[in-house]
Amino acid sequence: MAQHQASRKDWDTYFMDIAYMVSTRSRCPRRHVGAVLVQGKKLLGTAYNGAPMGVSDCSEAGCMIVGEYELVREGEQEKMVKKERCIRTIHAEQNLLLFTDRVDREGSTVYVTDQPCWTCANMLANSGVQEIVYHRPYLKDHDKVLQLMEKKGMRFRQLGGYQPPEQTRMEPAP
Ligand SMILES: [Zn+2]
Ligand SMILES: [Zn+2]
Repeated sequence: MAQHQASRKDWDTYFMDIAYMVSTRSRCPRRHVGAVLVQGKKLLGTAYNGAPMGVSDCSEAGCMIVGEYELVREGEQEKMVKKERCIRTIHAEQNLLLFTDRVDREGSTVYVTDQPCWTCANMLANSGVQEIVYHRPYLKDHDKVLQLMEKKGMRFRQLGGYQPPEQTRMEPAP
């Protein structure tokens, strides 16, 4: 019996596996992101990055790429850093907020395949969610997201030593 229990998935792995399964629904070739909302041990919502329902997605209409500049401070120095991103999709975390209720989110945990970008982190910080668990890092926004999480007193952690399910691996963009 003890052996059986040892092979059982822990909750972190269980919910992150679900987030990865959900991410396979995404049609944006740049990134497949999945997110799930968990209250206690209960799954309350799932979402992935995608265009609004009934609207052409990236696989049909192509990504909608914009370049943005951000003023970044490094010690005494300031520099403009260019970032490119696809704006056709609503990010997984934002879709998750659109499809769940505020009362369900109070004190909840979000498992998300990728570290949230600044905008998503900012929204999650105001959503009632108390903990964010992610797998793949997103370094561009890391520092300011971390500061925000600390300021809000939210738990924010990367799932280390985790292997996503084989069948959820994304094919490299052409
Ligand atoms: Zn796209
Ligand atoms: Zn985002």
